[in-house]
Amino acid sequence: MELTALPGSFRGELIRPGDPSYDEHRKVWNGSIDRSPTAIARCASTQEVVDAVGLARESGLRTAVRGGGHSFPGHSTCDDGIVIDLSKMKGIEVDPDGRTARVEAGVLLGELDAATQEHGLAVPAGIVTHTGLAGLTLGGGIGWLHRKYGLTVDQLISATMVTATGDLVRASDAENPELFWGLRGGGGNFGVVTEFEFRLNPLGPTVLAGPIFWLIEESPEVLRFYRDWIAEAPNELMTIVMHRKAPPLDFVPAELHGRLIVGVVCCWSGDLEEGERVIRPLREFGSAVLDLCEPKPFVEHQSMLDPSFPHGRWYYMRSCDVAELTDEVIDITVEHSMRIQSPLTSFPIWQLGGAISEVGDEDTAFDGRAVGHTFNITAVTEDEEGFEQERDWVRSFWSALEPFHQSVYVNFLMEEGQDRIREAYGPAKYERLRALKREYDPDNLFRLNQNIPPD
Ligand SMILES: Cc1cc2nc3c(=O)[nH]c(=O)nc-3n(C[C@H](O)[C@H](O)[C@H](O)COP(=O)(O)OP(=O)(O)OC[C@H]3O[C@@H](n4cnc5c(N)ncnc54)[C@H](O)[C@@H]3O)c2cc1C
Repeated sequence: MELTALPGSFRGELIRPGDPSYDEHRKVWNGSIDRSPTAIARCASTQEVVDAVGLARESGLRTAVRGGGHSFPGHSTCDDGIVIDLSKMKGIEVDPDGRTARVEAGVLLGELDAATQEHGLAVPAGIVTHTGLAGLTLGGGIGWLHRKYGLTVDQLISATMVTATGDLVRASDAENPELFWGLRGGGGNFGVVTEFEFRLNPLGPTVLAGPIFWLIEESPEVLRFYRDWIAEAPNELMTIVMHRKAPPLDFVPAELHGRLIVGVVCCWSGDLEEGERVIRPLREFGSAVLDLCEPKPFVEHQSMLDPSFPHGRWYYMRSCDVAELTDEVIDITVEHSMRIQSPLTSFPIWQLGGAISEVGDEDTAFDGRAVGHTFNITAVTEDEEGFEQERDWVRSFWSALEPFHQSVYVNFLMEEGQDRIREAYGPAKYERLRALKREYDPDNLFRLNQNIPPD
């Protein structure tokens, strides 16, 4: 559809094919996604979002909503449709005394951390600073602080949302509580959230954090030791296991470059001396080849993984939750990690539990609070070259873990079909979300997401 034919009263920045910045604005984080929307409505205010939703609805074109653009399967863009781009909505208001923050939908994790850490406060969120807060929050939000403080959605006090009909609604425990329940895990199914209000938690600003690495040959023993070590760990400790080829970076000894290694990345967010005591047995286990776990500002730790997941590379990911790292799960993990080909591939195995599991399972649409670990089996290549081979590796690794699959985190799904989305919520929550979808978006205008169809 030509621009001149687009209906509605959107007066904001509308970018379309042929505009000098079109290519820049149509890009999303995952370089393997290459789509060409009819128009990109770059909203700068809630009113512009209302108008953009009107434009999308009346045009009858497919509609994508974009926060940070980090959807693994590329849900925040589309061919021949409208992208409602929220990336200009950068407002952050921190109330350090009341320990709350109001945050607009275009804010990235690093921007929020910078604003809250100025006051020694934080919203627990994800582990890469250029991820969008909006998409992450609407799916749940796991990161370095979830064991101490819970998910990102567990900090949500209220959200403001534009519905498919262009109405503005607020959701909180007191207003539209069912919608509030659904927004805490149900993704972008119900409308466009323009603002989030979060509870803030004290943090640092110094944490004891960073990775400790061993050669992959030690991985079977390291993972077994790790499993037993974390069993008793306090909630202040959050860890991620990473397998990858050592990158050729200055702080990595040259003899390790390109060799397969296993790392345990720690983030201790309590008393630093106690953290040293807790982490020491891990440091001393086996023959670590590189130990970068040390006191540092939280914001520094928060950006540590940014260079491993930059915009524009080609990414493919399959995820699953497992209850525990049994010997079989460990053996499968090591066997497949040995087969990593790409020097850019690195995949996290997340430790969950702690404060996540202390919130009632029925309290939020997010499911899987009892999960032990989340696997994010991720293939990364610079571009198309080698991508297919690495993607096959992801699929075979994921399939090998199938007997141990428990559930899946909705923000870590690709385009995997309706059964997998149902799996992410479980049958009862899925039906409850469907009822909400019927109420707020009966025509499924917002369908470019992990979609819960109304009927
Ligand atoms: C490098 C990287 C690191 C990650 N790390 C973590 C992590 O540490 N923890 C974690 O929990 N997840 C993590 N994720 C997954 C992440 O939570 C999801 O990819 C999330 O969807 C990203 O949000 P976004 O706003 O950047 O994405 P977008 O691609 O902009 O949006 C993702 C989905 O959310 C919808 N959406 C976005 N904004 C809104 C809005 N305002 N209102 C309604 N719907 C909206 C979109 O329509 C789309 O369906 C990571 C992803 C990447 C790529």
